[in-house]
Amino acid sequence: MFPQQPTWSNSRINLLQRCPRAFVLRYGLAQVSRHHERGEILSIAFQIQTPWILLHQTVREVILDYVEDHGNGTVWSNGLIRARFKMDFEKAMRTRNRLIERIQVHNHHTSFQEKRPEQHLIDMGIETCIALIQHPEIQNLLAQGSIKRIELTTPTQHGRWKVYSAPDFIHCGPKGNSLIKLNLYGLPSRNNRERQAALTRLYGDQKSTVVLFSLKERKWIVNRIIPTNDQVQESLNLVENDVEKMESILSQVGRNNDLSLIPLADSYRSCMHCSVRFLCPSQHGLEKAKAEQRTLMCQ
Ligand code: SF4
Repeated sequence: MFPQQPTWSNSRINLLQRCPRAFVLRYGLAQVSRHHERGEILSIAFQIQTPWILLHQTVREVILDYVEDHGNGTVWSNGLIRARFKMDFEKAMRTRNRLIERIQVHNHHTSFQEKRPEQHLIDMGIETCIALIQHPEIQNLLAQGSIKRIELTTPTQHGRWKVYSAPDFIHCGPKGNSLIKLNLYGLPSRNNRERQAALTRLYGDQKSTVVLFSLKERKWIVNRIIPTNDQVQESLNLVENDVEKMESILSQVGRNNDLSLIPLADSYRSCMHCSVRFLCPSQHGLEKAKAEQRTLMCQ
């Protein structure tokens, strides 16, 4: 049914934990049926992000471009950072609005609404970029050695599975290599930071230091971690567990893409910001949809 290579990424396992149905729609049906109308609508719906997410994606892009240009000898002024952020965020919002229009053309009533970029989000994004670029840790890294950007879509291969856990940059300096990762959606717990660092180390070597920059309450928090081999192995064991869960849920999709055995979200909170609620039985109430599913499963 789903022949693609087993793949692990944080976003995949997070979505599976929030809602198995949404996971199957995004990483199963949207991919295998992308040439049909329903698959196309699913793909478009999953591409639509909230302005809040777009703000942080734009922060990442602007910082990556800044660092890349810095490595090539061009240092941007704060004025250029402001202009770049504003231009990129406005472009991302226009793209979002076009995606919403494409869904509306198919007569689907989604909860998405077209929006204009709000000035306070633009100001917040610019401040966040400048705060990181002026952070002493980043300034130190930029001042010596070389720095290379890594695309987040670069996987590593482990047996038959692909793992996505790339750093944003690799810095080569006099004291060795640092793998730099930006966490834009808060400071992960200590356990999660250690696990993230262990998987990020797959892109370096045993001596690599992982430097996590996490944005918490609009401030950047820095954690430097040197994962041990045991931590890397433990994290890969957890990845293996996660991949088994993903394969198990995908294997429950029935003939003709029947989703009646695929569990819905545990909590209505997951449905509130779900991209595909307009295609889900829970659009008329999660508890009612779950009761109907239980009835069908007992038949
Ligand atoms: S609306 Fe709720 S139950 Fe349906 S796919 Fe989204 S999160 Fe899952």
